[in-house]
Amino acid sequence: MSDQKTKSTKTEEKANGIPKPTSPNSDLKLDYSSFWNYSDAPESSDKVVIEDTYNHFINGEFVEPEKGRRFASVNPATEEVLSQFAEGTSEDVDKAVKAARKAYKNVWSKMPGRERGKYIFRIARMIQERSRELAIIESMDGGKPIRESRDVDIPLVAAHFFYYAGWADKLEYAFPGRKPEPLGVCGQIIPWNFPMLMLAWKIAPALATGNTVVLKPAETTPLTALRFAEICRDAGLPDGVVNIVTGAGQTGSEIVNHPDVNKVAFTGSTQVGKIIQKSLAGTDKKFTLELGGKGANIIFEDASIDQAVEGVVNAIFFNQGHVCCAGSRLIVQEGISDRFIQKLKDRMETLIVGDPLDKNTDIGAINSKEQYERIKTYLDLGGKEGAVMHQSSCDLPQNGYFCRPTIFTNVSQSNRIVQEEIFGPVLTIQTFRTPDEAVQKANNSPYGLSGGIWTDKGSKIFNTGQQVRAGVMWTNTFNKFDPTSPFGGYKESGVGREGGLHGLYPYVNLV
Ligand code: NAD
Repeated sequence: MSDQKTKSTKTEEKANGIPKPTSPNSDLKLDYSSFWNYSDAPESSDKVVIEDTYNHFINGEFVEPEKGRRFASVNPATEEVLSQFAEGTSEDVDKAVKAARKAYKNVWSKMPGRERGKYIFRIARMIQERSRELAIIESMDGGKPIRESRDVDIPLVAAHFFYYAGWADKLEYAFPGRKPEPLGVCGQIIPWNFPMLMLAWKIAPALATGNTVVLKPAETTPLTALRFAEICRDAGLPDGVVNIVTGAGQTGSEIVNHPDVNKVAFTGSTQVGKIIQKSLAGTDKKFTLELGGKGANIIFEDASIDQAVEGVVNAIFFNQGHVCCAGSRLIVQEGISDRFIQKLKDRMETLIVGDPLDKNTDIGAINSKEQYERIKTYLDLGGKEGAVMHQSSCDLPQNGYFCRPTIFTNVSQSNRIVQEEIFGPVLTIQTFRTPDEAVQKANNSPYGLSGGIWTDKGSKIFNTGQQVRAGVMWTNTFNKFDPTSPFGGYKESGVGREGGLHGLYPYVNLV
């Protein structure tokens, strides 16, 4: 890590920290070696206690797995085992569903919304109080840069709980003229890219509307969910209202197929989403599926170029590109494409890849060995498909799973790297001449989760934005999230919406 930074230093030129153009007649080529060099700024994890083993959280207490099976979660930046977790079996899931049912019947569904809201507010405040610890754990378990877990993930988690706490006693205003009734027990399954944020998206609206939950975090990132369980216990939340069962796909499947679960909320891959949808067919369970994406980021010639370059960096390199709504397809207008791509390459060269706990790090570790191998497969595939790959020249740490920021040019619409979700710091770049062509390319995807438009003209924003078939469109920005705003996809990106007022609907029956 520090090696990498030392190697890219040249003393005289870095003195004022300003990169020097190598060619006087353009801003195209920069001398990368002159970029500012940062000292290490590691966040200390000394005060964070991680136990050797963790159990399920069922009915308000931590309980051993029925069959005693365990699995490990690894720190992807060091490849060291962080802890052992309980592997949930059908017996564990059944116990958790029974606890959730009892809490639903006896306590939570009967409690006035005002009282439920107080618990959720308390949870939100306790998340804020423990935010530093939660951010560190999120970065250790998942590999994301501490800057992101500290400044984006955990503040948004608290914001979601605050927001939905506010709805708990106002549900009659959310659905004027209708009476919202809770559904019962919700089975919730989340992925590893935003472990605690996805938990908040699921649990906060469920509790606000009077439901109880059994949630399963992803097998590579279960730690913060169990910290959240501690928060629920410390907040005095009635036993059984929130249950956390850890495990992998089989455990998830036990939750989905449990006969006493009334609603399934799933966030994850389209592949698993399809399996879940099939197994729910013919049942009366409600469901929401938040699945994959391949967002198009469209840059018009009249856009503010430097701002758009920053936007592209944020769109694809935020959270190592492990973002369902990442802007992983850049579609740039022909007249500016050469200049834009060069500026993007220059900016990529300044990105620091390394220790997730270092406050300077821009791109942390790839979440798991499996995901690292998957990304590598796509990097090889790009070459075989005839695309031209460019990566930043930074050194990578010796251990851990790290990937340089990567772009592919010379791609065509039918290439698999353009069509399939890579879920890593990998961007494909296409060009367009007319707005219609941009829209056509943007929509030529099995997914429809997100997109971006960069232009100076409001008319282009409205005209193009309305034609791109995506659940979320950002203009002159990207990857901005807010609890008041609904989120979800079209086509293979899923069914239903989370967030905002829309996020209450999947958790109520309206009578
Ligand atoms: P994944 O589908 O492999 O796993 C997601 C979760 O489902 C995990 O907890 C996993 O253990 C569980 N699971 C696996 N098989 C299951 C089965 N048969 N039945 C029930 N549960 C099962 O996805 P992932 O690799 O963890 O996450 C990455 C994916 O999530 C990407 O495709 C990404 O786009 C998507 N995602 C979507 C959103 C969104 O809001 N649309 C948000 C974040 C991530």
